Amino acid sequence: MTDSSLLFEKARQLIPGGVNSPVRACKSVDCEPLFISKGYGSRILSEEGQELIDYVMSWGPLLLGHCHPEVTRAAREAVEHGSSFGAPCRQEIDLAEAIVQALPAVEMVRMVNSGTEATMTALRLARSFTRKNKVLKCVGCYHGHVDSLLAEAGSGLATLCIPGTPGVPEDTVKHTLLAPYNDLQAVEALFENHGADIAAVIVEPVAGNMGLVPPQEGFLQGLREITRQHGALLIFDEVITGFRMSFAGAQGRFGIDPDLTCLGKIIGGGFPVGAFGGKKQIMEQLAPCGDTYQAGTLSGNPVAMAAGAATLQILSRMDYDQLEKRTQDFAAGLKSILEAKGVPVQLNCLGSAFTLFFTSQPVSDFESAKTSDQRLFQTFYTQMRRQNIYLAPSGFECTFTSFVHTDQDFQTTLDAAENIHF
Ligand SMILES: *Cc1c(COP(=O)(O)O)cnc(C)c1O
Repeated sequence: MTDSSLLFEKARQLIPGGVNSPVRACKSVDCEPLFISKGYGSRILSEEGQELIDYVMSWGPLLLGHCHPEVTRAAREAVEHGSSFGAPCRQEIDLAEAIVQALPAVEMVRMVNSGTEATMTALRLARSFTRKNKVLKCVGCYHGHVDSLLAEAGSGLATLCIPGTPGVPEDTVKHTLLAPYNDLQAVEALFENHGADIAAVIVEPVAGNMGLVPPQEGFLQGLREITRQHGALLIFDEVITGFRMSFAGAQGRFGIDPDLTCLGKIIGGGFPVGAFGGKKQIMEQLAPCGDTYQAGTLSGNPVAMAAGAATLQILSRMDYDQLEKRTQDFAAGLKSILEAKGVPVQLNCLGSAFTLFFTSQPVSDFESAKTSDQRLFQTFYTQMRRQNIYLAPSGFECTFTSFVHTDQDFQTTLDAAENIHF
């Protein structure tokens, strides 16, 4: 047995399923997980010494790769001065300032510890600001494991085939409305019936949790107009897209002005972080300025703030267009190699993220994403992993590139794809 299987066996006795987040168990691809001992640049090293090119990048945060020297230095300097104070620190301002300067729709921001906390609180704030109850979300979008948002929530649940989850009372989801992604008519119909009580629409401006699904022309603009007409807030969940789709996020890229924005992943530079921000008038409703409660013992943690601020500072100098172009060429290369093997492939690619769906149908929402053949994906995944290419272990996830992936990394990956037998 390899080291990873031994560790997995032990972990399963101590931690449910041996993992602290379900998709890591690799169940849907019928593999055991690799235990990772190290990461450097675009590479990770497993406990048994297998070195792989990483396209998971911790599920998105590591746009600068593993152990970027400046990020590591910032975190080390911070931790040497104390790991947590539960009191304000300078690093919180550094990260907040970087976020407010980069994202056009964010005037003020509050730090939390995960993307889940960010979306959970953004909803509370939207409800308290509008004094309305209902929230509209899109099928296949994931906004963290917030109770009321776990209806039809994409990859993790889709992979495990759980329609929602036990443990959430019906009363909790009774204020959640669902529309297909990219379907403005469905959104309009819901507003016609419930408009007076809809506090917010929450959406991934580029969906990344049913595989990558870009917004169609006019979809985000339409959401902006409908919410404005009805006095509902528009919440962009930019936990994946923030600082990935452009340095100004998806909101900057598409020129949309959401009321609230949720962040996580990249803004923590690999440390546990989330944040939400938006218009000052709304944000000042939060305690201690306003009456809407939210708090966190470790929120604004100096180490995470320092790593995040260093990350954003480096990203501000990076050439996003070039990475996007290289990612597109790489993804198109993968697609044509797989197509030449006679399997149907759809490529959705935007920024430095893409998904190859094994279907002949264009993918624009969760229904069409689900036509992707998961057995073909499993074959692809296992044979790539054997050849030292580390992909997300689900066909409904993104493949993430980073600023440290080299052309040689991409070529090695294409060569591995050439060797696959379906
Ligand atoms: C990852 C993710 C979240 C949840 O973030 P956590 O830090 O895992 O709680 C929320 N929304 C989106 C779009 C995500 O991709």
